[in-house]
Amino acid sequence: IAKTYRRGGIFGAKAVVRAVHDADFTLKRGETLGLVGESGSGKSTLARCVVKLVTPEQGEIAYDGTNLRLLSRAAWKPYRQRIQMIFQDPYASLNPRRTVGDTIAEGPVTHGTPRAEALGRARELLRLVQLDAGAMDRYPHEFSGGQRQRIGIARALAMRPDLLIADEPVSALDVSVQAQVLALLAEIKARLGLTMLFITHDLRVAAQICDRVAVMQRGAIVEQGPTRQVFSAPQHAYTRQLLDSIP
Ligand code: ATP
Ligand code: MG
Repeated sequence: IAKTYRRGGIFGAKAVVRAVHDADFTLKRGETLGLVGESGSGKSTLARCVVKLVTPEQGEIAYDGTNLRLLSRAAWKPYRQRIQMIFQDPYASLNPRRTVGDTIAEGPVTHGTPRAEALGRARELLRLVQLDAGAMDRYPHEFSGGQRQRIGIARALAMRPDLLIADEPVSALDVSVQAQVLALLAEIKARLGLTMLFITHDLRVAAQICDRVAVMQRGAIVEQGPTRQVFSAPQHAYTRQLLDSIP
């Protein structure tokens, strides 16, 4: 995959940022692949390419034998359901004027599920993410960061995705809440057989949840393999540098 951003300078000078230029990886069904690397290495850009938030200039995104990169907006629609994404800041992505129940039910309703059925499923999902049913009629701002992230997870799961992309889902949370949300994600993954692309700059988080990791440096994946193997016997100098920087 290759993705370049063009930025217009104030005085007309244009900067070209090669955000991603050499990123070849495979995500197997049911596994959690961690995408790690320092800030600016292109992790979010790569994820945005997969969900068509940005359009890569080159490459192939093979999904069940279809190249997602070449799909039109219309042809992409069924995949938008199957691939869901959760973000770092769970508040920014939740509408403050919509109740939690409606927030979770919204996607399925938009895709044709009757509202009553979607709300029933929302109630079940709240239980799955360990929030009580009373949350249905409350608003996102009434919840803590960790609880809001659970709401975000429930909203993503409401679409019954087979791939969940999590972009720094616990980075905004304090350490004890991080552990709770990670444990929840691990449990859900096991229960629903989800495939997950898990983006984090925190190698300790990756070690907790990922089956395999891919290490990104300046737009390229420089190393990938089973988490334990990459972390115990890193092959690339950049991976060693990342591991050495853990306090
Ligand atoms: P972080 O860990 O800080 O989230 P990241 O690995 O997710 O970083 P990206 O957000 O993918 O990195 O950014 C990769 C590069 O692309 C950076 O140099 C960034 O400045 C640039 N970039 C990202 N988004 C845009 C944009 N919309 N327009 C221009 N440049 C961008
Ligand atoms: Mg990012």
